[in-house]
Amino acid sequence: MRAWRLLDRGTPPVLQEVPVPRPTGEQVLLRVEAAGLCHSDLHLMDGAAGAVPFAPPYTLGHEVVGTAVATGSDAGEVSGRFAVHGIWACGSCRQCRRGRENYCTALTRSIGCGIGRDGGLADYMLVPSPRHLVPVGDGDPVALAPLTDAALTAFHAISPHRDALAEALVVVIGVGGLGHLALQLLHDTGTTALVAVDPRPEARDLAAELGATHVAGSAEAAIATLATLDGGAGADLVLDFVGSPDTLGATDLLLAPGGSSVVVGSGGGSLTVAKGGTLARGWTVSAPFWGTRADLVEVVALSRAGRVHAETETYALADAMTAYERLRAGQVRGRAVVVP
Ligand code: NAD
Ligand code: ZN
Repeated sequence: MRAWRLLDRGTPPVLQEVPVPRPTGEQVLLRVEAAGLCHSDLHLMDGAAGAVPFAPPYTLGHEVVGTAVATGSDAGEVSGRFAVHGIWACGSCRQCRRGRENYCTALTRSIGCGIGRDGGLADYMLVPSPRHLVPVGDGDPVALAPLTDAALTAFHAISPHRDALAEALVVVIGVGGLGHLALQLLHDTGTTALVAVDPRPEARDLAAELGATHVAGSAEAAIATLATLDGGAGADLVLDFVGSPDTLGATDLLLAPGGSSVVVGSGGGSLTVAKGGTLARGWTVSAPFWGTRADLVEVVALSRAGRVHAETETYALADAMTAYERLRAGQVRGRAVVVP
């Protein structure tokens, strides 16, 4: 079978011919139907050893939908089509016991699917246990694949704030794979004042289509927009899907008293938290990671109900690098998805 293998940090992945893996124990072999390409893959390819602790070689691809075609002897009855929950947590640590497997304390050297372990940018992939599978029934695999990270991460980032969204003024920074799904999820919860920020005009057009009430080309422009809205106090919630020095550096000017900054993007910026300084006005800052399996079940249900839908561009497996280059150049509308 073919697999896009990351052989070393700082080098592009290569398409290699490797044996189809044989499932043992609890493992499930999936025939990959679709795999989404995430900006995090670019960080994994580029990553300096310290910044990205997951040692190659491994197969990329952490947004995967596929069909179960074989199982190990301890996997039980597994058949049908599944979305892969890519955080291959231990299932028994104190975080896992509380259903917070995205913060599993045992995951230190790898996260799982395509992040330190072989993922689904390939014809087939092994999932370590049926625990990490969520049934998807029928439906277009290309539309389903981005649910497993882009939508799941956005959902998990928004979740703690859901009850406070009705009267809230919300800013979404970065209308790419994650951001365009976050806008839909926010719009779906009834958020009425939604400012989307992206330097790309096409991304701002997409944001407006998906429910943004205002668009801005930079964090600075968003601050100017906020000054004109609802008394000019700023935003209650800032979801930063970029996390660069310019976006995080603008946080204190974007937030209203009592507001929350949720940092999702790993764009190399940092945010200083200092009492008496930037946090004097009841702000909270969080940096959530991916989402739980239970979140993914909810996201799949939202998608089946037509309440969230990934905008996608489709590529053949052999063309994955072309798609990654488009992603790096900021040319992808929504999510690029590979179909083996
Ligand atoms: P993407 O490339 O699809 O989208 C990024 C968007 O941000 C693009 O539309 C781009 O035009 C826009 N952008 C770039 N610079 C900007 C700026 N200064 N201000 C405003 N917008 C800007 O990327 P993605 O796949 O959606 O991932 C976004 C980020 O989230 C990446 O850093 C990725 O690694 C990270 N990520 C984090 C998690 C997590 O669990 N925390 C999960 C997945 C991805
Ligand atoms: Zn655990």
